[in-house]
Amino acid sequence: MRTTPSNLVIAIDGPAGAGKSTVSRSLAEILGIERLDTGAMYRAVAAAAIHHGVDLSDGAALVALAEALTVEGDGEVLVADLSVGHLLRLDATNSAVSLVAATPQVREVLVRHQRQWVEDRNGSGVVEGRDIASVVFPDATIKVYLTASAEERARRRVDEGAASIIRRDEVDSTRAVSPLHVAPGSRVLDTTGRTIEDVTGEILGWLA
Ligand code: C5P
Repeated sequence: MRTTPSNLVIAIDGPAGAGKSTVSRSLAEILGIERLDTGAMYRAVAAAAIHHGVDLSDGAALVALAEALTVEGDGEVLVADLSVGHLLRLDATNSAVSLVAATPQVREVLVRHQRQWVEDRNGSGVVEGRDIASVVFPDATIKVYLTASAEERARRRVDEGAASIIRRDEVDSTRAVSPLHVAPGSRVLDTTGRTIEDVTGEILGWLA
């Protein structure tokens, strides 16, 4: 029987369409640990806020939603009893999420959830987002910053559209709290034109 590694945290950051989800899934499967998509958590708060008609500038109401968020065993995200899976990729959610994610109190709550999630899994997980290496797990086993050319990123997120991606990246990189940047100690990997196997192989090589 395969044993689950303990205290193995792989932190994957980068802009939209850099390949974080695909690479994280592959790494988690190969390493036999779970993956946490922290973008889905920010999306869940934004989607629940829209669903309940919450004003996006109402920090206290957003925090209440963040506090009510749970990640189920299969990765499904709930905000209280609202299952938000079908709302996460809507245009309205894409438009709102970066604003919600720029709210410091929301980040505080979600970062707490993220650390707890890893603690509940023997201290292990592949965790992807924007501030994982810089803020959430600065002592991660491996810290990776994935990137790709603007054209390739837009192609991978064709449903969302290039303009929305550019706008989100701009807000995410310039916000006051936990902006997207290459954290100290992170290795930068450009995934443009590379296969999943190639990229995951390179990251796994850093573990050896
Ligand atoms: O990864 P994804 O594109 O689904 O993330 C959606 C949004 O959530 C990002 O544009 C960003 O505003 C926010 N986010 C964040 N910090 C994270 C993960 C996502 O601010 N760790």
